[in-house]
Amino acid sequence: MENCIFCKIVAGEIPSQKVYEDEEIVAFKDVNPQAKVHVLVVPKQHFATLAEMNLAQAEVLKHAMMRIPFIASTLGLGNGYRLIVNQGADAGQTVHHLHIHILGGQTLGEKMV
Ligand code: AMP
Repeated sequence: MENCIFCKIVAGEIPSQKVYEDEEIVAFKDVNPQAKVHVLVVPKQHFATLAEMNLAQAEVLKHAMMRIPFIASTLGLGNGYRLIVNQGADAGQTVHHLHIHILGGQTLGEKMV
């Protein structure tokens, strides 16, 4: 996807601090961390939001969720972590390439839910 910053990271066209990569996903440190540990888990294939995915394509989310405990363990998040997916304007999504935030490394702030 042209002009998508996460597609460029996936393609290695712009630098990132990768912490995990396989055939389907990449995980890298957020450039503007909102917690001591803040990593983004990104499908390599471009989808702006969940609404763009069909059932088969959504397999990558199952894969990502199954790898997150391992990624979290490599990040030292044995005491827990929070996952966030922002979808669209009301949620404040700023990068329109589906991604899962992993936040941890500290006691996190007040929960919204
Ligand atoms: P969201 O608001 O859910 O769309 O989250 C987008 C996240 O991407 C923000 O937390 C940004 O700090 C982060 N971000 C934007 N550009 C980069 C980049 N080049 N490398 C790492 N993280 C980035």
